[in-house]
Order: sequence, then C-alpha cells, then structure tokens
Amino acid sequence: MRQLIAGNWKMHCLAAEAVALAQGIAAGASGIGAELLVCPTALHVAAVAQALQGSNVAVGGQDCHQAKQGAHTGDIGGPMLRDAGASWVILGHSERRQNHGETDELVREKTLAAVEAGLTPIVCVGETADQRAGGQETETVGWQLAGSLPKPFTGVVAYEPVWAIGTGKTATEQDVATMHAFIREELVRQFGDAGQIIRILYGGSVKAANAASLMAVPNVGGALVGGASLNAEEFLAIARAARAG
Ligand code: PEP
Repeated sequence: MRQLIAGNWKMHCLAAEAVALAQGIAAGASGIGAELLVCPTALHVAAVAQALQGSNVAVGGQDCHQAKQGAHTGDIGGPMLRDAGASWVILGHSERRQNHGETDELVREKTLAAVEAGLTPIVCVGETADQRAGGQETETVGWQLAGSLPKPFTGVVAYEPVWAIGTGKTATEQDVATMHAFIREELVRQFGDAGQIIRILYGGSVKAANAASLMAVPNVGGALVGGASLNAEEFLAIARAARAG
C-alpha cells in the first residue's frame, strides 16, 4: 500500500503563511506517488483547502470534539472540519494528551465522532522517555491502542514516541521495527484480518535525511511529520522518499 506522508503544522503559520506553504507543497507534489496530507490549525483549514484545490494534497484537522455540535466553547466539531474542506483529522496527539489531559477513552469517542463526520482519523500513540527507560514502551502502547481505537476502526495509527517529538532524537530503525511489529500484532488481535491493512505511521523528528531509512522499515505505512513539514522543500523531499505503491 502506498505510504501516507502527513504534515502536522501544529500552532504555526498566520493565514498568509499557511496558504503560501500549501501552495509551495502543491507546486512540487504532482509527480509524487505517496499520499500527501497537511494539517494546519483549524482556523486555516478552509483557506488551505482552497489553496490545494486540484492538487494531490489533502487537508486535515489536528483535533475535533467528540460531540457533533453543542455548547462547547472554543471547540471544533468534526462536521465543521469536514465542511471547511478537511478529509482527515489527527487525534490523541501526545501534545493533546499532555496539555489537555486527553485520555484513551476520550480519544476513542473523538475517533467515533470523526468517522461519523466523514473524516479519516489518525490516532496517535507513543510512550514517554520514562516509560521506555522503565521497559514499559510496548505495554503503554498496547493499552493506548486497546483504549483509543473503536471497533471497527477505519483509520490510521501513528506511533510517535513522545521523547522523539520535536527533539531531533529519532527512534532507531530497530526500535521502530520492533514497535511497529508489536502494533501490527495488536491490530490483528483487535480487528482480525482488517488489522493487517491499517496503516501505521511513524512520527518523531522525521526529516529528509532520515526519511528513506525509516520508510523502509517493515510495517511503516508512512510518516507524521511536525517541524520538517513547515518547509515545503523538506516536506516534499520526505514525500519523495516514501513508497508510491
Ligand atoms: C509531531 O508532532 O507529530 C511530530 C512528529 O513532530 P516532529 O516531527 O517535529 O518531531
């Protein structure tokens, strides 16, 4: 299956910068066979979707509420993201889990809401440095998968070791291989044959220089890219290193 390269722009870019970044990516994306996605702040989803019209780059949100609509000041519903032009949404990112106290149960509810709204969820899991130091990385990720994914699950999983996000520290290919094999086993245990084809992205300081080796690891279905996705050329170089089929 072709790999997915997803950019998480986090809380970066004013509107004009987001549109310019989207245009830069779209301009170089046409010959790239990997699936491409950018996730700007919700405020800029509509403008970025418009800038990407006619290109092979999709747009996603970075979070959505578990309810369709209602009295939830400051929140964004899945149908609103969809209406603005998003077709994907990142859920349960470690920054949401840490900064907003999101639990596996909440991530599961958000995932259901996203699917109902017509969005494809990218559900993030990953251990902290302390959990890895304590030898609890697979146990942690196993619990996150069991708690965060609804049955059936029609999205993508992103393995993002928290200690590798925005730190410049990348998991070794061996660590990625071991964890992705474990996640595959868990997905098959939870979902049977359907678990064999769920894409598992790797995220954590992916850049052009390490993309090819990380994308070649078995069970890696693409990358979730933070910092390096804010530069069109760097993001496109990562995308060119990904599998097209
Ligand atoms: C992320 O935030 O999802 C991420 C992987 O960030 P970075 O690539 O900057 O480590």
